[in-house]
Amino acid sequence: MICEVIVDIAHSEVDKVFDYVSDGPIAPGARVAVPFGASVATGFVMRVKESSDCPAHKLKRILRAEERPALNAECLSLAQTVAARYRVPMALALRLFLPAEMRTGKVAETYRTYARFLGDVPTKNAPQQAACLAFLKEKGEADAAEVRKRFGAALGALVKKGGAALEKRRVLRDPYKEVAGTSPSHTLTAAQQRAVDAVEHTQKTVVLLHGVTGSGKTEVYLTLIARALAAGRTAIFLVPEISLTPQMLSQLRARFGSLAAIMHSGLSAGERFDEWQRLRDGSAKIAIGARSAVFVPLENIGVIVLDEEHDGSYCSESAPRYNTFDIALLRAAHNGCKLVLGSATPSVETYKRALEGEFELVTMPDRINARPLPDVTLVDMRREVRRGNASPFSAALRDRLSDCLAEGQQAILFLNRRGYSQTVLCRDCGYVAKCEHCDVSLTYHSEEDCLKCHYCGTKYRMLTACPACGGTHLSYTGTGTQRIVRDLAALYPEARILRMDNDTTSGKEGHFRILKQFSERKADILVGTQMVAKGHDFPLVTLVGILDADMSLHFPDYRSNERTFQLVTQVAGRSGRGREKGEVILQTYDPDNAILRFAAAYDYEGFYRHEINLRAALMFPPFALIVRVMVTGAENDAALSALREVYEKLQRLYAAYPEEFLFFNRMHAPIRRIQGKYRYQVLMRLSSARFLREIYDAAAAVTRRDALVYVEENPSNLS
Ligand code: ADP
Ligand code: ZN
Repeated sequence: MICEVIVDIAHSEVDKVFDYVSDGPIAPGARVAVPFGASVATGFVMRVKESSDCPAHKLKRILRAEERPALNAECLSLAQTVAARYRVPMALALRLFLPAEMRTGKVAETYRTYARFLGDVPTKNAPQQAACLAFLKEKGEADAAEVRKRFGAALGALVKKGGAALEKRRVLRDPYKEVAGTSPSHTLTAAQQRAVDAVEHTQKTVVLLHGVTGSGKTEVYLTLIARALAAGRTAIFLVPEISLTPQMLSQLRARFGSLAAIMHSGLSAGERFDEWQRLRDGSAKIAIGARSAVFVPLENIGVIVLDEEHDGSYCSESAPRYNTFDIALLRAAHNGCKLVLGSATPSVETYKRALEGEFELVTMPDRINARPLPDVTLVDMRREVRRGNASPFSAALRDRLSDCLAEGQQAILFLNRRGYSQTVLCRDCGYVAKCEHCDVSLTYHSEEDCLKCHYCGTKYRMLTACPACGGTHLSYTGTGTQRIVRDLAALYPEARILRMDNDTTSGKEGHFRILKQFSERKADILVGTQMVAKGHDFPLVTLVGILDADMSLHFPDYRSNERTFQLVTQVAGRSGRGREKGEVILQTYDPDNAILRFAAAYDYEGFYRHEINLRAALMFPPFALIVRVMVTGAENDAALSALREVYEKLQRLYAAYPEEFLFFNRMHAPIRRIQGKYRYQVLMRLSSARFLREIYDAAAAVTRRDALVYVEENPSNLS
């Protein structure tokens, strides 16, 4: 038998199938070891056939093959689609479907030895053996290491006598052992029932569930998943952030026990490997995780849920730069199941497609139990400054915070900036401390008393004097979460304050620990970056303060209005989810801003009409496609010459079809250097996707090896 094999080397020059001979049968999707050049490589069997065009004496033999194919037929064909669509080597597309540790072979299955009771044997004059035997008899079996710890050599003696046996068995690592299932299942409300029915009855593949925060979308998802399982099928549940998964997982665990497996990058290598195996072997039937979970080896999928569909993290930022929605849609079509998108603030593009009838639109306009949405008060920070209040807290916020604490309730303060201060500025000469590897200013971190680069993580010693002029009038401008915590502690010495941002949430359990502490009322105030905005359900929170609502408005990005609306709505949605009504204080220097006003009024429709008209007038997505060809390189000359190469190719396209290009130019990327790499871009706004393929081809054809060239479609980050 002949196998067509893709060798697991992600390089365009070996990006084709090679024929190998196999003695025994091998199924497509299996990983194999094959001789390649002078060494042995891993590969994937793409297809099997009877004969090869390659002369028999030249054909090499497959050395080893795994029994059970790592990839099923669906995954194989999906990998082919991904490779073609995003123009990456097949090997790179195939890797998406495996936990990285399976490729490197660095993790092993873990085994544990158990001691099992076989039968009574004489133990005269050996009290330890008698005790050990009695122990095993009672338990049936126990971890051998523990038995040895308690009874020493007695176990060995019993094994010799035939009273006990040792057995080595595979154990699966269980991430989130701590996450106990706690959430009760609810009887569906009428609105939830309508949503479930709509999903099950529509002829359309994609359903957009537009439900305000606290409308009970999760219960709808869980019901749909339960129905899929009841029908003998499986489910994928995608969430945007790791910080969300422990909460979701605990609900899934409560309902589905160990049928739920978690897939995400925060797990240890071994855990990821085991969870993946449980999904492939069918012992787990629900995959929950961030975007990479869309590639899990489940078969017969009955429903795919993509929660918080508007979230930017669904776009991959490394090759292949896929959009999770596109992959999920392919899988839904292949499996004949529904793809359910959920959000309180759908992206403008998704909402447009729903309004136009491409997706089924289901709305849940009210919170569970008709709980009111919190009142949002816009506070004009310019007035505060005029009144001499230079602190990050308005008088109104301080008042409400005092009340909230006095009543024993909890508050969340949101600020989209971690660290202590944004920049360190010399007031004598205007010098700003910057990273040596990145074209960005450094952030002061008070806890470690150092300056940090938020792009590459490099730490620098704190400055005592300006390195440019020697002046000592250094000022810290812009407030970060650390500083907020310090100021709060001074204002409310008795309050217990928690901070949640990238600095406090390292490690798999980082988010979970903080969220757990807060939900167990071990803190009164939670201060955080956008991590605190997402999905969390804390019934005791009655006050949310948004300290600087303008921050995200002034980003040079066509999505900045949308982002701001989403962020304000999401953060506000954390308030008043329990019995008490909640409120939101939104601090801004631009209180008349239309977007903030729509957000404060929970007027998604109003926001949408405003925004879609703007996008149509300016010809921005979804009326056009923004495509950026990025060029990066450690050497400026190399990057520039690669830029020239790709630009010339693209320019020919531009010259031939100028009507397709609403914008076309090359330039520095907004951040000119990150992690030591120089960054350039060819920025294009296209009136259609007609020449997307040619653009990918142009980028792939750049011959320089010392520069990286890649394509981004409607990038969620234009820095
Ligand atoms: P969303 O995801 O739409 O923001 P959640 O799913 O978090 O909303 O639900 C909000 C709250 O309502 C949660 O505390 C949840 O336990 C509760 N809830 C959901 N469905 C029901 C129901 N049918 N009956 C009672 N409470 C419910
Ligand atoms: Zn840096």
